[in-house]
Amino acid sequence: MPRIERESIVELLKGLVAIDSVNPCMSPSHKGEGEIGEHVARLLQAAGLDVELQQVTEGRNNVIGRLRRGNGEKRLLVLAHMDTVGVDTMTIPPFDPAVVGDRLYGRGSSDTKAGLAAAVATAEDLAVERGNFDGELVIAATVDEEYEAAGVEALVKKVKADAAVDLEPVGMKAIIAHKGFAWQRFRVLGKAAHGSDFARGIDAIIRTGRLLEELSSLNGKLSKASHPMLGPPSLHASQISGGEGWSTYPASCTLTVERRTVPGETREKIEDEFRMIVERLASEGIEASTELCFFRPATEISPDERIVRCLVNSAAKNGIVCPVEGMAAWPEAGTLNLAGIPTVIYGPKGCTGHEADEYVEIGSVVQCAQVLKSTVLDFLG
Ligand SMILES: [Zn+2]
Repeated sequence: MPRIERESIVELLKGLVAIDSVNPCMSPSHKGEGEIGEHVARLLQAAGLDVELQQVTEGRNNVIGRLRRGNGEKRLLVLAHMDTVGVDTMTIPPFDPAVVGDRLYGRGSSDTKAGLAAAVATAEDLAVERGNFDGELVIAATVDEEYEAAGVEALVKKVKADAAVDLEPVGMKAIIAHKGFAWQRFRVLGKAAHGSDFARGIDAIIRTGRLLEELSSLNGKLSKASHPMLGPPSLHASQISGGEGWSTYPASCTLTVERRTVPGETREKIEDEFRMIVERLASEGIEASTELCFFRPATEISPDERIVRCLVNSAAKNGIVCPVEGMAAWPEAGTLNLAGIPTVIYGPKGCTGHEADEYVEIGSVVQCAQVLKSTVLDFLG
């Protein structure tokens, strides 16, 4: 019985949504991906894949299933994360999946258990058909995408592949470019003194105003550049803190800034930009320091990559329109691209994820699985 049809996919997806896999780093009262990992491993094993668990941290394992045909060297990785964001603000039961019309509701229904269900259904279908491709299909279900992406970071140390499809709810588009980001911390110094002692006190918070002006002007410059798929890079001030009380000159003020990058903007470029601002402030007698706390680069692949052409052709074969675009958020595809595995992001329509009433459009999940199966057969054909 084919697995890529509405009833089987709904059953698969309901089974995945019913398991709480909230990322425990974001919501410590939840247990994480242990149970869903066992469930996915059982499904892939039952389908006939060789399955192994890769421990990422205690109790949190990536699930890796392999389906081999012939002696072909080509290997295609299909990836979906198992964790979800928290459920505290949800307005629907998070783990009691409900079908209303063409929508399936529940936490993770869209981001990205729908993609995971499409991957499992594809593997189940391909496993019962013999001699349909030559090479290896690797299905990977990862942990921790929503927090530090520790799952995919571990995965690329173990799995090599010629290309990958990263399943996320991107509305049936082929996404080949995404932005990156840098988290930067500034510290501006002043001099503590009694509030009445204007001659001695130096106000670090007012001085930070100069830093904010510089950042605003940098943001203005950034907005003039534009990546054809991603638009301009940008920055925004994220958090500010400083000062001790009404009657004290603040001795320091800390400002954190997020800088969103486009492909080609390196860690060094970002560090230079911010260092130059600190140097300018120093020339005005304002003492400040800055450090880059976390950086993930933007990446992109060519629309001519074989995996992109296979995916777009497979969509067309199934009568589905598949625009090739970029996306703003950082996906696991970034880590795969950096590891030398050209990755296209694909997935169903519905919520983009994290919503209070998260849902996915069931018809698009079935279509996603159809396209995925054709893509595997084409790429490994
Ligand atoms: Zn996701």
